[in-house]
Amino acid sequence: MHETIRPQPGILDIALYQGGKASIEGRNDAVKLSSNENPFGPGEKAIEAYRRAGHTLHRYPSTDHAGLRLAIGVAHGLDPERIICGVGSDEIITFLCQAYAGRGDEVLYSQHGFLMYRISALAVGAAPVTAPERDRTAHVDALIAAMTPRTRLVFVANPNNPTGTMISRTEVVRLADALPSQALLVLDGAYAEYVEGFDGGAAMVAVRDNVVMTRTFSKIHGLGGLRIGWGYGPQHVIDVLNRIRGPFNLSSTQLEVAEAALGDAEHLERSQRENARMRTWLVRALNDLGVACDRSHANFVLARFGSASEAEACNAHLLSEGLIVRQVGSYGLPECLRITVGDEPACRRVVHAIAQFRGRR
Ligand SMILES: *Cc1c(COP(=O)(O)O)cnc(C)c1O
Repeated sequence: MHETIRPQPGILDIALYQGGKASIEGRNDAVKLSSNENPFGPGEKAIEAYRRAGHTLHRYPSTDHAGLRLAIGVAHGLDPERIICGVGSDEIITFLCQAYAGRGDEVLYSQHGFLMYRISALAVGAAPVTAPERDRTAHVDALIAAMTPRTRLVFVANPNNPTGTMISRTEVVRLADALPSQALLVLDGAYAEYVEGFDGGAAMVAVRDNVVMTRTFSKIHGLGGLRIGWGYGPQHVIDVLNRIRGPFNLSSTQLEVAEAALGDAEHLERSQRENARMRTWLVRALNDLGVACDRSHANFVLARFGSASEAEACNAHLLSEGLIVRQVGSYGLPECLRITVGDEPACRRVVHAIAQFRGRR
């Protein structure tokens, strides 16, 4: 740390976010199952829009994102005026913390909640506060018990990363009802499309003035590399967030590709169908090998081993077999490995390698 030039309080407490490992030295056949990416990649329509976008790169993008907001509104049955688009949903999380939390405030989330909540809270000088979970699932009573007059934001990813677990609509309503008057509830719906018949909490946002939903194009739409996310909230919140959003935060390419992706129902349905099929297969195969998994509602499973050292050894074996999964010690789950549901060959490879690993012991 520099002796006199110091960052704002909180910033030096941030541990750098470690993205999922992307390659293994000396191997070109590695399979990456560490970042919850869509194994089928982006859809054809998104790729076409990406190519087309090249011709108009000299033009500044729209500042109000009207086209994309309208397309999102139509696709999800939401009021476009209450939508804000950002550089991934990470940017929406950042805006929420910038706008509503600062020194002396608390940002609450559950024990194994997504790491960006902590990072974004510390970045604005607020105190991250966690509430214990029960069986790796958000526990509403514990969250309520952790609320104080300083609580400004409560983040719940539903389903959550890295656990894959989710809480019912009734539980979410109970949480929203218990919010102190100065607090906003943020429902992070990064994996909502993987849950059949689930709106990510949109219906609740529509009728409450203290609930926001965040969504992303990074997961089921297969566009993590392009960085597009959005939020849906009460008008007073969206108006606030727009004041701190850079006018050109999204490029024309991001806007056009995201809009095209929304029009690709076939890609969406195939991604949902294949994920559900392979997730069921993967969980059953892991259970048959004596590896426990909680019920996952997302595009990954959390494999639970007997100990942190067993998880570590299994991870090393998987790497030696060219398979990259995610270690989740930084989420307080050192005995677990998070495995993205890949396509069928990838799932078969990972199960085969774990069977080898278990057989050797
Ligand atoms: C992947 C993920 C996101 C999405 O982040 P982007 O910035 O939109 O890529 C948000 N929340 C959770 C819980 C995630 O796992």
